[in-house]
Amino acid sequence: MESRKFHFAQALLPEGWAKDVSVAVGANGMIQSVTANGRGGRKIMGAAIPAMPNVHSHAHQRLMQGLAEKAGPGADSFWTWREVMYGFALRLGPDDLEAVAAQLYVEMLKAGFSVAGEFQYLHHQPDGAPYDEPAELSLRCLSAAEQAGIAITLLPTLYAHGGFGGQPPVTGQRRFIHSADSYLRMHETLAKACATHPLRRLGISPHSLRAVTPALLQEVLNGIAPDAPVHIHVAEQVKEVEDCVSFSGLRPVEMLLENFDLSPRWTAIHATHMTARETQRLAASGAVAGLCPTTEANLGDGIFPATDHLKEGGAIAIGSDSHITVSPSEDLRMLEYSQRLRDRTRNALASGPGASTGRTLYAAALKGGATSMTQPVGAIARGHRADIAVLDTEHPSLIGRSEDQLLDSWIFSAGNPAVAHMLVGGEHVVKNGRHIREDDIETRFRNTVRRLMT
Ligand code: ZN
Repeated sequence: MESRKFHFAQALLPEGWAKDVSVAVGANGMIQSVTANGRGGRKIMGAAIPAMPNVHSHAHQRLMQGLAEKAGPGADSFWTWREVMYGFALRLGPDDLEAVAAQLYVEMLKAGFSVAGEFQYLHHQPDGAPYDEPAELSLRCLSAAEQAGIAITLLPTLYAHGGFGGQPPVTGQRRFIHSADSYLRMHETLAKACATHPLRRLGISPHSLRAVTPALLQEVLNGIAPDAPVHIHVAEQVKEVEDCVSFSGLRPVEMLLENFDLSPRWTAIHATHMTARETQRLAASGAVAGLCPTTEANLGDGIFPATDHLKEGGAIAIGSDSHITVSPSEDLRMLEYSQRLRDRTRNALASGPGASTGRTLYAAALKGGATSMTQPVGAIARGHRADIAVLDTEHPSLIGRSEDQLLDSWIFSAGNPAVAHMLVGGEHVVKNGRHIREDDIETRFRNTVRRLMT
């Protein structure tokens, strides 16, 4: 049995950076004690920081990395990308999804993420009929997370309609569709699978205001635990805003605010297109804005009003969503760069004069991410789970840096290759840049992709 006490040359603690930090971890994966200027424990070289939650993942979309980057005959948009995505989604079987998700989760761990927020909307067989076990595909995501050793907040998706006002779903959506009753039955199965597992939490993801009516969502919310996290895509696309306004007279974020009592239990995924008033109200509600900056850039969604949202005290978290890249450092960098490009400024999101932009962004996304995932993570401190990323201080981009400079040089330059180690619940799953089950998981993934691409 490996030592459950670790020693780091430096670590980012809630009170700031500290040297010679020993962290004792209990059998349940929770941190029992943290001692600065101490000795003892298995030495892990590098700088320890709390690992980042990835609050928005669609595992199956990992398959189509780079396959929607060819110009079409007409104007390319989110909606033409969605057609390519639906094509892949219609072909995957349960073993395929498990293989793809396991590979994705290994990649997340190697990049510094320790929790996957899996917004899982593939439910049924390719012809739309339920599997013998209706929760089959979501259970496969749990199994993939187990193989990779990542924590997971499973967010099975409630999807009923093809557009605002209860429009019928289109063919490409037939694997997603549930009634309130069939959804709640599936949710009950998943609640049993998550109940006693230390790395699992269960929530719900109403897909969007296009796919659920407020009445349907309320009916389902009445049937699940009152503290389960709720994630919803909202205001990602201008067309979605226009359709929402012409249907209801309200913009999507307004419609959400008018119909539901938003709180930290809620994560608004994207929330890209908001008026100043919506930004202020969303921030004041305590709901987390779940941002996916590299996916939003790839899809041409638009720019989230991050400077205003943070000024209003709003909470943020990050997710890799379509997995065009899987990297907390790149998503935080893209978030900051989007504001710089729009406002022609620098250090747009730093908390104040002299503050590190990397540290500000990292701290904000850790806090919002832990809330959004309802997982006991986000700090190297007693009572938190031992989810710890370790940066390689010998990486050429990090040489000679200390404290917040390490975060800035990692986020703005070094990226994923500077993540040397990962602990999840005290389990040492990435060692010197290699995941402990990387070879087996990658071989299975290669075989799956080759078969699906032919
Ligand atoms: Zn999404």
